[in-house]
Amino acid sequence: MDKIPAANGEGDRGAPMAYPPAESGRTAPRTPPTARTCSSVIAGAAVTYTLRVSARARSLRLVIRPASGLEVVVPRGTPAHEVERVLRDKARWITRTLARVARESAVMAPALADGSILAFVGRPLQLAIRTGAPAGRFHAAISGETLQLTVTRDTQEEVRTALEAWYRRQAARVFAERLAVCNAAYGFSYGRVSIREQKSRWGSCSRRGNLNFNWRLLLAPLPVLDYVVTHELAHLKEPNHSPRFWALVAAACPEYQTQRRWLRQHGRELRF
Ligand SMILES: [Zn+2]
Repeated sequence: MDKIPAANGEGDRGAPMAYPPAESGRTAPRTPPTARTCSSVIAGAAVTYTLRVSARARSLRLVIRPASGLEVVVPRGTPAHEVERVLRDKARWITRTLARVARESAVMAPALADGSILAFVGRPLQLAIRTGAPAGRFHAAISGETLQLTVTRDTQEEVRTALEAWYRRQAARVFAERLAVCNAAYGFSYGRVSIREQKSRWGSCSRRGNLNFNWRLLLAPLPVLDYVVTHELAHLKEPNHSPRFWALVAAACPEYQTQRRWLRQHGRELRF
């Protein structure tokens, strides 16, 4: 199998950036602490933050989350000048982290609108949204470089649901094709092929030789998709990640390290 790297800044469910870094095993306060919105000038720019007074906090702590931004958690009785001092001291970390989280959030969830560009098996498709589909139904068809999508109402939720259903349907066909291409070098026999949305995997190979693939790989460049297909095929012979396994992958996919690196760096961006 190939794992999806742990997500940072994935909506608000992602691990928050924190200073100092969170200690493992720390639990959330049982009673909601009091919070208020404040603002301060950090590195020459006005920054709004949430000041949270916590009965359980033992020291001042900075947390940055994609949706809620900067939060300053302080023990009861912390003077305002102490908060200002830490904000000044940590100005560089704050501005850098806020910028990075904003950048990642933008990559995570771009709005889907008429004219949006989507990656599809290594080529860009321009989305053309039309309305008028019967309730609960949608229609999608590729015409040249355009993906014509007809939904009932043009809402983000409906467009996203329809697109995902379409990508999943396409995935069954695309993976069947790429399996045939990638398996030409091996000639292995395999069982059932399923398309899933595995939260933490790009693909997997069961003991019975059934193969599973994550439909989100259709958003990746074709060589990356082929690498994952080759990886799972190689597991049919080597159900491990031994040097023998990697040699088998390399035999069919000499550039596999480049594709692996791409997946590690960009895997979290494979969404719409
Ligand atoms: Zn593997």
